[in-house]
Amino acid sequence: MIEAPPLTLRLRLDKEALASNWRALDAMSGAARAGAAVKANCYGLGIAECLPILREAGATDFFVAHWSEVDAVRAHVDPSQIAVLHGCSNTAEAQFARATGAIPVINSLRQAQVWSESGGGPCHVMVDTGINRLGLRPADLGDSVIQSLEVDILMSHLACADEDGAYNAAQQKAFDTVRGQVPHTRASLANSAGIALGPAYHHDLTRPGLALYGGVPRAELAAGIRQVAHVEAALIQRRELNAGDRVGYNGRYIATAPMDVGIVSLGYADGILRAWSGQALRHGSAELPILGTVSMDMVVCDLRQAPDLQEGDWIELPYDLPTASQATGLSQYELLTVLGRRLTA
Ligand SMILES: *Cc1c(COP(=O)(O)O)cnc(C)c1O
Repeated sequence: MIEAPPLTLRLRLDKEALASNWRALDAMSGAARAGAAVKANCYGLGIAECLPILREAGATDFFVAHWSEVDAVRAHVDPSQIAVLHGCSNTAEAQFARATGAIPVINSLRQAQVWSESGGGPCHVMVDTGINRLGLRPADLGDSVIQSLEVDILMSHLACADEDGAYNAAQQKAFDTVRGQVPHTRASLANSAGIALGPAYHHDLTRPGLALYGGVPRAELAAGIRQVAHVEAALIQRRELNAGDRVGYNGRYIATAPMDVGIVSLGYADGILRAWSGQALRHGSAELPILGTVSMDMVVCDLRQAPDLQEGDWIELPYDLPTASQATGLSQYELLTVLGRRLTA
Protein backbone atom coordinates (compact mmCIF):
# COMPACT_ATOMS: atom_id res chain seq x y z
CA MET A 1 0.00 0.00 0.00
CA ILE A 2 1.32 3.41 -0.92
CA GLU A 3 1.04 6.03 1.81
CA ALA A 4 -1.23 9.01 1.16
CA PRO A 5 0.67 12.23 0.36
CA PRO A 6 0.76 15.06 2.93
CA LEU A 7 -2.43 16.87 3.85
CA THR A 8 -3.36 20.22 2.38
CA LEU A 9 -5.34 21.19 5.46
CA ARG A 10 -4.68 20.66 9.14
CA LEU A 11 -5.95 21.31 12.61
CA ARG A 12 -3.00 22.55 14.63
CA LEU A 13 -3.62 21.88 18.32
CA ASP A 14 -1.79 24.00 20.84
CA LYS A 15 -1.27 21.23 23.37
CA GLU A 16 0.37 23.49 25.90
CA ALA A 17 -2.68 25.79 25.74
CA LEU A 18 -5.03 22.84 26.32
CA ALA A 19 -3.08 21.75 29.41
CA SER A 20 -2.85 25.32 30.61
CA ASN A 21 -6.61 25.83 30.16
CA TRP A 22 -7.39 22.75 32.27
CA ARG A 23 -5.02 23.94 34.99
CA ALA A 24 -6.53 27.45 34.90
CA LEU A 25 -10.07 26.07 35.18
CA ASP A 26 -9.00 23.73 37.97
CA ALA A 27 -7.49 26.68 39.83
CA MET A 28 -10.59 28.81 39.21
CA SER A 29 -12.68 25.95 40.62
CA GLY A 30 -11.22 26.72 44.04
CA ALA A 31 -11.57 23.84 46.47
CA ALA A 32 -13.34 21.76 43.82
CA ARG A 33 -11.54 19.65 41.24
CA ALA A 34 -12.08 20.28 37.57
CA GLY A 35 -13.15 17.34 35.42
CA ALA A 36 -13.29 17.47 31.63
CA ALA A 37 -16.19 17.17 29.19
CA VAL A 38 -14.72 15.14 26.35
CA LYS A 39 -17.96 14.30 24.51
CA ALA A 40 -18.22 14.65 20.75
CA ASN A 41 -14.59 13.65 20.25
CA CYS A 42 -13.35 16.39 22.60
CA TYR A 43 -15.65 18.93 20.96
CA GLY A 44 -14.29 17.96 17.55
CA LEU A 45 -10.60 18.29 18.37
CA GLY A 46 -9.82 14.58 18.76
CA ILE A 47 -9.88 12.27 21.77
CA ALA A 48 -6.62 10.59 20.82
CA GLU A 49 -4.80 13.93 20.83
CA CYS A 50 -6.56 15.69 23.71
CA LEU A 51 -7.19 12.97 26.27
CA PRO A 52 -3.55 12.24 27.15
CA ILE A 53 -2.92 15.96 27.59
CA LEU A 54 -5.89 16.44 29.90
CA ARG A 55 -4.89 13.34 31.87
CA GLU A 56 -1.28 14.51 32.21
CA ALA A 57 -2.48 17.97 33.25
CA GLY A 58 -4.30 16.28 36.13
CA ALA A 59 -7.90 15.62 35.05
CA THR A 60 -9.39 12.45 36.52
CA ASP A 61 -13.11 12.73 35.65
CA PHE A 62 -14.21 12.57 32.02
CA PHE A 63 -17.71 13.10 30.61
CA VAL A 64 -19.03 11.72 27.32
CA ALA A 65 -22.61 11.74 26.03
CA HIS A 66 -22.91 8.35 24.30
CA TRP A 67 -21.89 4.77 25.03
CA SER A 68 -20.29 4.73 21.58
CA GLU A 69 -17.77 7.26 22.88
CA VAL A 70 -16.51 5.07 25.73
CA ASP A 71 -14.05 2.92 23.82
CA ALA A 72 -12.00 5.81 22.50
CA VAL A 73 -11.74 7.33 25.99
CA ARG A 74 -10.93 4.17 27.89
CA ALA A 75 -7.92 3.66 25.66
CA HIS A 76 -6.40 6.46 27.78
CA VAL A 77 -7.95 6.33 31.26
CA ASP A 78 -9.48 3.89 33.69
CA PRO A 79 -13.11 3.23 32.67
CA SER A 80 -14.33 4.10 36.18
CA GLN A 81 -13.26 7.68 35.38
CA ILE A 82 -15.70 7.90 32.46
CA ALA A 83 -19.23 9.18 33.05
CA VAL A 84 -21.79 8.63 30.29
CA LEU A 85 -24.25 11.52 30.37
CA HIS A 86 -27.08 9.91 28.41
CA GLY A 87 -27.23 7.10 30.99
CA CYS A 88 -28.61 3.62 30.40
CA SER A 89 -32.11 3.45 28.98
CA ASN A 90 -32.16 -0.29 28.25
CA THR A 91 -30.53 -3.59 29.15
CA ALA A 92 -28.04 -3.43 26.28
CA GLU A 93 -26.68 -0.12 27.54
CA ALA A 94 -26.56 -1.33 31.15
CA GLN A 95 -24.70 -4.45 30.07
CA PHE A 96 -22.26 -2.38 28.07
CA ALA A 97 -21.65 -0.24 31.17
CA ARG A 98 -20.92 -3.36 33.23
CA ALA A 99 -18.70 -4.87 30.57
CA THR A 100 -16.63 -1.74 30.06
CA GLY A 101 -16.70 -0.32 33.60
CA ALA A 102 -17.83 3.13 32.44
CA ILE A 103 -20.33 4.75 34.80
CA PRO A 104 -23.86 5.73 33.74
CA VAL A 105 -25.41 9.05 34.69
CA ILE A 106 -28.95 8.15 35.76
CA ASN A 107 -31.44 10.64 34.31
CA SER A 108 -34.87 9.20 35.10
CA LEU A 109 -36.73 6.74 37.30
CA ARG A 110 -36.79 4.36 34.37
CA GLN A 111 -32.99 4.54 33.95
CA ALA A 112 -32.60 3.97 37.67
CA GLN A 113 -34.78 0.87 37.37
CA VAL A 114 -32.80 -0.44 34.39
CA TRP A 115 -29.54 0.08 36.28
CA SER A 116 -30.79 -1.52 39.51
CA GLU A 117 -32.31 -4.51 37.71
CA SER A 118 -29.06 -5.09 35.84
CA GLY A 119 -27.27 -5.39 39.20
CA GLY A 120 -26.77 -1.80 40.40
CA GLY A 121 -23.40 -0.55 41.62
CA PRO A 122 -21.72 2.86 41.46
CA CYS A 123 -23.49 5.39 39.26
CA HIS A 124 -23.95 9.12 38.91
CA VAL A 125 -27.26 10.97 39.05
CA MET A 126 -28.38 14.02 37.05
CA VAL A 127 -31.15 16.13 38.57
CA ASP A 128 -32.92 18.72 36.49
CA THR A 129 -33.04 22.07 38.28
CA GLY A 130 -34.44 24.07 35.39
CA ILE A 131 -32.90 23.23 32.02
CA ASN A 132 -35.60 20.66 31.22
CA ARG A 133 -33.31 18.44 29.26
CA LEU A 134 -32.20 15.13 30.74
CA GLY A 135 -32.39 14.69 34.49
CA LEU A 136 -34.65 13.51 37.29
CA ARG A 137 -37.26 15.89 38.60
CA PRO A 138 -36.56 16.88 42.20
CA ALA A 139 -39.99 15.48 43.08
CA ASP A 140 -38.82 12.00 42.02
CA LEU A 141 -35.81 11.89 44.33
CA GLY A 142 -37.69 10.35 47.25
CA ASP A 143 -38.52 7.25 45.18
CA SER A 144 -37.04 4.11 46.70
CA VAL A 145 -35.27 3.17 43.47
CA ILE A 146 -33.33 6.46 43.67
CA GLN A 147 -32.69 6.19 47.38
CA SER A 148 -31.22 2.71 46.85
CA LEU A 149 -28.68 3.87 44.22
CA GLU A 150 -24.98 3.99 44.99
CA VAL A 151 -24.40 7.59 43.88
CA ASP A 152 -20.90 8.89 43.33
CA ILE A 153 -21.52 12.23 41.56
CA LEU A 154 -24.84 13.98 42.14
CA MET A 155 -25.04 16.61 39.43
CA SER A 156 -27.21 19.23 37.81
CA HIS A 157 -26.62 21.44 34.77
CA LEU A 158 -26.94 25.22 34.46
CA ALA A 159 -29.10 26.55 31.63
CA CYS A 160 -27.82 30.14 31.48
CA ALA A 161 -24.38 30.21 33.09
CA ASP A 162 -23.03 32.35 30.23
CA GLU A 163 -25.58 35.08 31.08
CA ASP A 164 -26.17 37.23 34.11
CA GLY A 165 -29.57 37.05 35.71
CA ALA A 166 -31.56 35.42 38.43
CA TYR A 167 -31.74 31.99 36.81
CA ASN A 168 -28.28 30.88 37.88
CA ALA A 169 -28.87 31.61 41.55
CA ALA A 170 -32.27 29.90 41.36
CA GLN A 171 -30.68 26.74 39.99
CA GLN A 172 -27.88 26.92 42.52
CA LYS A 173 -30.43 27.13 45.36
CA ALA A 174 -32.49 24.31 43.93
CA PHE A 175 -29.35 22.19 43.76
CA ASP A 176 -28.60 22.95 47.41
CA THR A 177 -31.99 21.48 48.31
CA VAL A 178 -31.45 18.47 46.04
CA ARG A 179 -28.11 17.73 47.69
CA GLY A 180 -29.89 17.11 50.97
CA GLN A 181 -32.24 14.59 49.39
CA VAL A 182 -29.94 12.01 47.80
CA PRO A 183 -26.94 10.43 49.53
CA HIS A 184 -23.89 10.91 47.32
CA THR A 185 -20.11 11.13 47.43
CA ARG A 186 -19.50 14.22 45.28
CA ALA A 187 -21.65 17.10 44.05
CA SER A 188 -21.20 18.87 40.71
CA LEU A 189 -23.02 21.81 39.10
CA ALA A 190 -20.74 24.08 37.08
CA ASN A 191 -19.83 23.84 33.41
CA SER A 192 -17.15 26.21 32.01
CA ALA A 193 -19.22 29.35 32.46
CA GLY A 194 -20.49 28.17 35.85
CA ILE A 195 -16.92 28.11 37.17
CA ALA A 196 -16.83 31.90 36.79
CA LEU A 197 -19.98 32.30 38.89
CA GLY A 198 -18.05 31.74 42.09
CA PRO A 199 -17.54 29.32 44.98
CA ALA A 200 -21.28 28.70 45.56
CA TYR A 201 -21.28 26.91 42.20
CA HIS A 202 -18.13 24.83 42.63
CA HIS A 203 -19.10 22.04 45.07
CA ASP A 204 -16.72 19.05 44.73
CA LEU A 205 -16.26 18.80 40.98
CA THR A 206 -16.67 21.15 38.03
CA ARG A 207 -17.29 19.99 34.46
CA PRO A 208 -15.66 22.37 31.98
CA GLY A 209 -15.84 21.57 28.28
CA LEU A 210 -15.85 24.59 25.98
CA ALA A 211 -13.23 26.60 27.88
CA LEU A 212 -10.76 23.69 27.86
CA TYR A 213 -10.73 23.97 24.09
CA GLY A 214 -10.36 27.73 24.00
CA GLY A 215 -13.95 28.94 24.29
CA VAL A 216 -14.68 31.98 26.43
CA PRO A 217 -18.35 31.85 27.50
CA ARG A 218 -17.95 34.60 30.12
CA ALA A 219 -15.61 37.57 30.19
CA GLU A 220 -14.24 36.54 33.61
CA LEU A 221 -12.59 33.54 31.94
CA ALA A 222 -10.87 35.47 29.16
CA ALA A 223 -7.60 36.12 30.96
CA GLY A 224 -7.03 32.45 31.83
CA ILE A 225 -8.07 30.80 28.57
CA ARG A 226 -5.89 30.40 25.47
CA GLN A 227 -6.75 29.43 21.91
CA VAL A 228 -6.26 25.69 21.34
CA ALA A 229 -7.52 25.00 17.81
CA HIS A 230 -5.76 26.57 14.83
CA VAL A 231 -7.24 25.92 11.39
CA GLU A 232 -4.74 26.01 8.54
CA ALA A 233 -4.85 25.11 4.87
CA ALA A 234 -2.57 25.25 1.87
CA LEU A 235 -2.83 27.55 -1.10
CA ILE A 236 -3.42 25.03 -3.89
CA GLN A 237 -3.57 27.46 -6.79
CA ARG A 238 -2.96 31.10 -7.69
CA ARG A 239 -4.94 32.62 -10.54
CA GLU A 240 -5.45 36.00 -12.15
CA LEU A 241 -8.88 37.51 -12.62
CA ASN A 242 -9.89 40.17 -15.09
CA ALA A 243 -12.44 42.86 -14.36
CA GLY A 244 -15.88 41.28 -14.67
CA ASP A 245 -14.78 37.71 -13.82
CA ARG A 246 -17.14 35.94 -11.45
CA VAL A 247 -15.96 33.75 -8.59
CA GLY A 248 -17.50 30.50 -7.36
CA TYR A 249 -21.03 29.13 -7.32
CA ASN A 250 -23.66 31.62 -8.44
CA GLY A 251 -20.98 34.20 -9.19
CA ARG A 252 -21.42 35.91 -5.88
CA TYR A 253 -18.18 37.89 -6.27
CA ILE A 254 -17.38 39.86 -9.40
CA ALA A 255 -13.91 41.34 -9.86
CA THR A 256 -13.96 45.08 -10.50
CA ALA A 257 -10.35 45.20 -11.67
CA PRO A 258 -7.60 42.71 -12.53
CA MET A 259 -6.55 40.93 -9.37
CA ASP A 260 -4.73 37.86 -8.05
CA VAL A 261 -6.75 35.33 -6.11
CA GLY A 262 -5.90 32.08 -4.39
CA ILE A 263 -7.70 28.76 -4.07
CA VAL A 264 -7.41 27.39 -0.54
CA SER A 265 -8.03 23.78 0.43
CA LEU A 266 -10.79 24.29 2.99
CA GLY A 267 -14.54 24.04 2.56
CA TYR A 268 -17.85 23.42 4.24
CA ALA A 269 -17.18 19.67 4.29
CA ASP A 270 -14.38 20.57 6.70
CA GLY A 271 -16.79 22.54 8.86
CA ILE A 272 -15.95 25.90 7.35
CA LEU A 273 -19.58 26.73 6.73
CA ARG A 274 -20.96 29.33 4.35
CA ALA A 275 -21.29 31.59 7.38
CA TRP A 276 -17.60 32.35 6.74
CA SER A 277 -18.34 33.97 3.36
CA GLY A 278 -17.26 37.60 3.62
CA GLN A 279 -14.68 36.90 6.34
CA ALA A 280 -10.93 36.78 5.73
CA LEU A 281 -8.08 34.29 5.88
CA ARG A 282 -4.72 35.45 7.16
CA HIS A 283 -1.08 35.00 6.29
CA GLY A 284 1.23 36.75 8.71
CA SER A 285 -0.15 40.26 8.84
CA ALA A 286 -1.85 40.01 5.42
CA GLU A 287 -5.66 39.83 5.32
CA LEU A 288 -6.99 37.61 2.54
CA PRO A 289 -10.75 38.23 2.19
CA ILE A 290 -12.83 35.21 1.20
CA LEU A 291 -14.45 35.89 -2.19
CA GLY A 292 -17.88 34.55 -3.10
CA THR A 293 -19.44 31.44 -1.63
CA VAL A 294 -17.58 28.78 0.34
CA SER A 295 -17.51 25.50 -1.65
CA MET A 296 -17.42 21.97 -0.26
CA ASP A 297 -13.65 21.59 -0.59
CA MET A 298 -12.27 25.04 -1.30
CA VAL A 299 -12.56 28.76 -0.82
CA VAL A 300 -11.26 31.53 -3.06
CA CYS A 301 -9.44 34.42 -1.44
CA ASP A 302 -8.10 37.81 -2.43
CA LEU A 303 -4.29 37.71 -2.64
CA ARG A 304 -3.73 41.43 -3.19
CA GLN A 305 -2.12 41.81 0.23
CA ALA A 306 0.10 38.75 -0.29
CA PRO A 307 1.81 39.11 -3.68
CA ASP A 308 4.56 36.65 -2.76
CA LEU A 309 2.40 33.81 -1.51
CA GLN A 310 3.24 30.57 -3.35
CA GLU A 311 1.23 27.47 -4.10
CA GLY A 312 1.85 25.12 -1.18
CA ASP A 313 2.18 27.90 1.39
CA TRP A 314 0.04 27.60 4.50
CA ILE A 315 -2.72 30.07 5.30
CA GLU A 316 -4.61 30.44 8.56
CA LEU A 317 -8.32 30.84 9.16
CA PRO A 318 -8.53 33.05 12.26
CA TYR A 319 -10.16 30.69 14.75
CA ASP A 320 -10.01 32.57 18.04
CA LEU A 321 -13.44 31.38 19.19
CA PRO A 322 -15.00 34.53 20.66
CA THR A 323 -13.94 36.59 17.62
CA ALA A 324 -14.88 33.89 15.11
CA SER A 325 -18.27 33.54 16.77
CA GLN A 326 -18.90 37.27 16.41
CA ALA A 327 -17.79 37.15 12.78
CA THR A 328 -19.85 34.14 11.66
CA GLY A 329 -22.87 34.11 13.95
CA LEU A 330 -22.03 30.51 14.89
CA SER A 331 -21.73 29.72 18.59
CA GLN A 332 -18.29 28.94 20.00
CA TYR A 333 -19.55 25.38 20.61
CA GLU A 334 -20.65 25.00 16.99
CA LEU A 335 -17.35 26.37 15.68
CA LEU A 336 -15.53 23.51 17.42
CA THR A 337 -17.89 20.59 16.93
CA VAL A 338 -18.57 21.35 13.27
CA LEU A 339 -14.95 20.78 12.24
CA GLY A 340 -14.86 17.97 9.69
CA ARG A 341 -13.09 14.65 9.60
CA ARG A 342 -10.51 15.71 7.04
CA LEU A 343 -9.37 18.44 9.38
CA THR A 344 -7.25 16.49 11.83
CA ALA A 345 -4.29 17.23 14.02
C1 LIG B 1 -21.43 19.48 27.77
C2 LIG B 1 -21.65 19.47 29.22
C3 LIG B 1 -20.75 20.10 30.08
C4 LIG B 1 -19.66 21.03 29.60
O1 LIG B 1 -20.25 22.27 29.29
P1 LIG B 1 -19.40 23.52 28.71
O2 LIG B 1 -20.41 24.59 28.59
O3 LIG B 1 -18.88 23.07 27.38
O4 LIG B 1 -18.31 23.80 29.66
C5 LIG B 1 -20.93 19.93 31.45
N1 LIG B 1 -21.95 19.19 31.93
C6 LIG B 1 -22.85 18.58 31.12
C7 LIG B 1 -23.95 17.79 31.72
C8 LIG B 1 -22.75 18.72 29.75
O5 LIG B 1 -23.66 18.15 28.95
